[in-house]
Amino acid sequence: MYQKGRAWIELNMEHLKHNMEQFRSLLPPDCDLMPAVKANAYGHGALLVSKALQAQGVKSFCVASAAEGAMLRRNGITGDILVLSYTHPEQFDDLISYHLIQTVVDGDYARQLKRDGRRFTVHVGIDTGMHRLGERWDHMEEIVKIFRIPNLNVTGIYSHLCVSDGKDGRDRAYTLEQIHHFEYVAEELHRRGISGFKCHLQGSYGILNYSELCFDYARAGIALYGILSGKNDKINASVELKPVLSLKARVESVKMLYQGESAGYGLTYSAGKNQKIGVLSIGYADGVPRSLSNRGQVLCNGKPAPVIGRICMDQMLVDLSDIEQAAPGDEAVLIGKSGDLEIRAEDMAGWAGTISNEILSRMGERLERIAV
Ligand SMILES: *Cc1c(COP(=O)(O)O)cnc(C)c1O
Repeated sequence: MYQKGRAWIELNMEHLKHNMEQFRSLLPPDCDLMPAVKANAYGHGALLVSKALQAQGVKSFCVASAAEGAMLRRNGITGDILVLSYTHPEQFDDLISYHLIQTVVDGDYARQLKRDGRRFTVHVGIDTGMHRLGERWDHMEEIVKIFRIPNLNVTGIYSHLCVSDGKDGRDRAYTLEQIHHFEYVAEELHRRGISGFKCHLQGSYGILNYSELCFDYARAGIALYGILSGKNDKINASVELKPVLSLKARVESVKMLYQGESAGYGLTYSAGKNQKIGVLSIGYADGVPRSLSNRGQVLCNGKPAPVIGRICMDQMLVDLSDIEQAAPGDEAVLIGKSGDLEIRAEDMAGWAGTISNEILSRMGERLERIAV
């Protein structure tokens, strides 16, 4: 079926490869990339992305759920797949049949895995200060107990940094403390004769701002897709990241909105003069935030077209008055380049008052994903 009929995502696989190489050159040689392909690879399409990465030699992936891991396995992704969050005991079957590595989210969870009795391969989450998942770093006895559970094959420990994107003194001090807590746990385990486990701590900002660290894996997510969370984020590493994703839709209809007329649900936009408007075949069900109603812009024929009226579920309206040649069937670019202009995911995130991670991970299922 023709994939560019309505609304679609184009993936620049050369950029993905480029970003991966940038990370590889930044990280110590014995630190492996473990790309985060959760949430459908941040909306890009988990299978397309994982297959491309696998072809580039990537051997470890992380996902958010057992179902995400199972989908990758069923479609030919080999190597390690780490499930970063909770799996319900009713789904433990999937951990076994798809050879997934489960995160031990805390001591209680370890006992649930123990009660099941089957042999699970796990990484133990360590809470070094984010207070989300993981057993507390200062509960050494509890952590050691997890390692001693007979049916658990503990192949790694990991933690997560929560202010590694921050550049002020307080954020840096907190991150250094988290690093210190994590290293303490690893050393203490070794001191007690427990070894043979891998360690990993950094996500994108941990890699970009603390690239001197040397662990076994680095869990690169957002930056591997070539973008940062926020437009004004500053990073220490000098890397060049290239956006992988473009979001495009068709102009389905071009018409006039005459002076004084209003348009769209709630009639929130009124024409101050006679205007040419376009209807685009994309809406909030495709991941365009409804908060972009009367905010931000798209690109059409290399020119900006401001969003007018409320974003609908399947459509949205733009002002094409300044784009003489705009016609039905044209492409509209919501994220990506058109002529000399570019809208980045960070721009859309800024207009919508969120981070690009949220914009991307909410890209709709209905969008075709095309590798170019
Ligand atoms: C999502 C996630 C990552 C990747 O984070 P980015 O900031 O997108 O690189 C790494 N580790 C954990 C535990 C995560 O949940």
